[in-house]
Amino acid sequence: MPQDEKQYLVGKTLVELQDFCATIDEPRYRAYQLFYWLYTKQVAVFADMTNISKKLRSRLTEEAGIHVLEEVTRTESETGETRKVLFRTGDNQQVEAVLMKEGSRITVCLSTQVGCKLDCQFCATAEMGFARNLTVAEILNQFLLLQKISPERITNVVFMGMGEPFLNYPRVIGAAELINHQEGINLGARKITISTAGIVPQIRRFGSERQRFKLAISLNASDQATREKIMPIARQYPLPELLNSVREYYDITRNRPTFEYVLMAGINDSQEDAVRLVKLIGGLPCKVNLIPYNEIGGRYRRPTDEKIEVFLELLYNAPFTVTVRRSKGIGINAGCGQLAVSRN
Ligand code: SAH
Repeated sequence: MPQDEKQYLVGKTLVELQDFCATIDEPRYRAYQLFYWLYTKQVAVFADMTNISKKLRSRLTEEAGIHVLEEVTRTESETGETRKVLFRTGDNQQVEAVLMKEGSRITVCLSTQVGCKLDCQFCATAEMGFARNLTVAEILNQFLLLQKISPERITNVVFMGMGEPFLNYPRVIGAAELINHQEGINLGARKITISTAGIVPQIRRFGSERQRFKLAISLNASDQATREKIMPIARQYPLPELLNSVREYYDITRNRPTFEYVLMAGINDSQEDAVRLVKLIGGLPCKVNLIPYNEIGGRYRRPTDEKIEVFLELLYNAPFTVTVRRSKGIGINAGCGQLAVSRN
């Protein structure tokens, strides 16, 4: 079979595997075997699919493939608890994903696009520009390769790597569904978080589809002017509209969304900002995750610890739960907003 027609199986659903079996004149039940080996056993070569005949295994090895990504480099934090992996796609694009250990929790942060269109002023990924959406196969492949590296089972997935998940909606949901699938990887929907910079129509869609995956929204400011300044997408989807869509999502799903708020010195970290934040979202059942800014060599700075403490205290009596994300892997540029790959 010519190379460009070669089928790669990672990321295929059961139905797609059945179609694949049909194209190679194999019975439909083979698809269940392939699904099991791909996602439950997570093998990377056909030779390991031991309940499939040797003959078919070698035919598959010839004519098809499993993984579509190749590991390029792996960087480890000093403690060894955070690992960042750079992958290469079939068309020579590069994406990064991160594996983090925190107590018994093993989280992976996956990329959804090569680069990003949104141009958030504080984010390193924005500086790469946008190349293309990742496929379900490429998103799932990040998960499977990180699971191979991890001695323990992955317990949480966050779609918070490079790109805007809601501008690649069907593929991100497709990947999340495969990670959640009970006969396969079987990770609970509530352990899978999709984060958006606030693409209102897709937030509405996510709610109306009654998706059970967790929703996070990168709010990052409590007033329209500041938000527009740091997140150009805010011009297209202003705060009132954004909050309405999140409210609708909550009303339908009864799942509390999380608002992420990256704290940047002199931008959004004043006492006034904190008070306004409570006013803005206090009426909405939600959680807030404060992320002290990870510096990327640009003009934004992380507030001092005292300043972060004051901001936190002002939220103490707010009707929502507040957590502070101590970003992992800052030393290896694997913290939030630090993922970027140079074009050459
Ligand atoms: N585009 C999606 C998914 C990326 S998530 C989104 O915006 O939600 C990445 C998270 O990291 C976002 O909450 C973003 O606000 C935050 N972030 C970006 N740059 C950062 C930086 N330099 N330091 C800390 N957090 C950052």
